[in-house]
Amino acid sequence: MKCLLCKNNCECRIKDVKDYFICKGKSPDFSMHYCKKCMMGFTSPKISERELLGYYPSSYEAYNKRKGIMSFLQKMKYKRDLKIISRSITKNKPSMFEIGAGRGEFLQEARKAGFNVSGVEPGEEGVIFAKKEYNLKIICGFAKDMPLKSRYDVIVLRHVLEHINNPKDILLYIKDKLKDKGVLFIKIPNYGSAESALFKRYWGSIDAPRHRVHFTKNGIKKLLKDIGYKDILIRKEIVPNDIIRSIEFWGRYSNSRIRTLGALFSKLPEILKIIIGQIIGAVLSIRSSGRMIITARLRD
Ligand SMILES: [Zn+2]
Repeated sequence: MKCLLCKNNCECRIKDVKDYFICKGKSPDFSMHYCKKCMMGFTSPKISERELLGYYPSSYEAYNKRKGIMSFLQKMKYKRDLKIISRSITKNKPSMFEIGAGRGEFLQEARKAGFNVSGVEPGEEGVIFAKKEYNLKIICGFAKDMPLKSRYDVIVLRHVLEHINNPKDILLYIKDKLKDKGVLFIKIPNYGSAESALFKRYWGSIDAPRHRVHFTKNGIKKLLKDIGYKDILIRKEIVPNDIIRSIEFWGRYSNSRIRTLGALFSKLPEILKIIIGQIIGAVLSIRSSGRMIITARLRD
């Protein structure tokens, strides 16, 4: 397989990985090829957008409201993310545009924090929910459906870039949509993490075939630099749910004694799983965390 960005030859890093999340291991085989030059991996084979849509049923987590402790943890995460963004913006009532706004929950928190918010989301369900629940006007569509002449102080891409076949295209496109001192805020999984090295094909964030691109810290840094972004800051993020999912996939789908351990783990109460996930995530993140929070600007 050739790299989708530089056309260099890629090496096969993971063979015969399945969709353990939605298809519960009953999908066709996928593989992950890595480009050493771009320092990122790509899911193959490349499938059409229409075919890919079949892997996003309405039960897909991004479309569903979280409940209980998960909802509480999510709100805390939103607040932390907004603090990171606010630190880079000096202006009052900055404008924020989110690509892949889901159900508008992050934008709603941002509005409460003083941002002037708008966004785009391909899932009609999310757009309707955001309007009904928060009176948020989100455009139903993709990044290219952003208002033509508008420019923003902040553009947000949370868990979006890894789902796109060519992340360079979208990053180039939104470059013209950022104001002079505007901030690009990105959240993506880190394929170069200790979590990924430990769980390998069972790592929750491989998420084939939905995750098309598998970034590393140096890979995203290089890509952003090549496009012209400066002031690139990459922070660690630990998500207990990623560890929980990885242990459960490992237990359920590997052909080893781990299965019994996985089955026992699945039966634990939710709160205990979160604590275990947080501890394992924190220990592994000493080397490198499973997710990255990135801020970048076009000019200082
Ligand atoms: Zn490449």
